Amino acid sequence: MRAWAAALAGTLAPFAVPSAKTTDAIVIGAGIAGLSCALEAARSGATVLVIDMSTVGGGHAILSNGAVCLIGTPLQASSGVADSPELARADFVARGEDADPGWVAAYVERSKTEIYDWLTEAGVIFDGLAKPPGNSVARLHLARGKGWGLVGPLLRECFRRPNITFLWASRAEKLIVERGAVTGVAVANLRTGARRDWRAPVVVVATGASRTIWKWCASTGLPNSLPPVACSSAPPTPPPVRVTSWSRGSAGAWVA
Ligand SMILES: Cc1cc2nc3c(=O)[nH]c(=O)nc-3n(C[C@H](O)[C@H](O)[C@H](O)COP(=O)(O)OP(=O)(O)OC[C@H]3O[C@@H](n4cnc5c(N)ncnc54)[C@H](O)[C@@H]3O)c2cc1C
Repeated sequence: MRAWAAALAGTLAPFAVPSAKTTDAIVIGAGIAGLSCALEAARSGATVLVIDMSTVGGGHAILSNGAVCLIGTPLQASSGVADSPELARADFVARGEDADPGWVAAYVERSKTEIYDWLTEAGVIFDGLAKPPGNSVARLHLARGKGWGLVGPLLRECFRRPNITFLWASRAEKLIVERGAVTGVAVANLRTGARRDWRAPVVVVATGASRTIWKWCASTGLPNSLPPVACSSAPPTPPPVRVTSWSRGSAGAWVA
């Protein structure tokens, strides 16, 4: 209850609409993917505008079990679980119907540093392990507090950053494309109906579900628009449209 109250309080606090129409980066979606992107960008000094049509942050992760398969973590070691990237790779490739070996290799090698370490440094506590079907060992890490325990700390970290601003109840309606590049987003305020364009050299689409993100990508009409590859280990080049590894767990995002 306290956690929910804190979340709502935090969500209501940054309601003031910023006056400037430009920012270093725009992130569409305040789910776990969008919050991860916003936090990383803000840590590197960028000013970030996060736009979400909901009035609370966290997206679907709030409903989730907060369970993530991770490999070679301190929790596994202290629980006596002997795991390795090689073992996980064999499990995932054997189990996955359409497993992409390149993606699997990147994931199993990096999940400890890029997911476990990153999340625990942000305040997530993993305090349980489970062995889901198809896994040789217990590697499903259970966040204390389930979905809220996973995404709540990221939301709190974002709220602490003065260089991250949230626009709630605001739906991104269209990516603005100029001279062959995405330069902004047309946004509608769902409370007032007011429409406004926001500009940024970097636009991240983190609206959930790869099909949705692909629609955004295709809507730009840019020649090198590519289908989204969440967690791609080797982002395709050249710009202006890149699919990238701004992704944690099963969430994904697309950077224009
Ligand atoms: C019941 C349940 C249990 C789950 N359990 C697990 C689990 O244990 N482990 C696991 O790994 N995964 C689990 N998942 C899946 C996981 O929750 C999702 O994969 C993850 O939360 C997706 O995050 P995301 O940030 O990519 O997208 P989302 O969480 O969908 O966030 C997208 C955000 O974008 C906003 N948005 C969308 N369109 C627009 C627009 N046009 N303009 C402005 N804002 C927009 C939405 O309001 C939302 O806040 C579960 C899901 C559910 C529903």
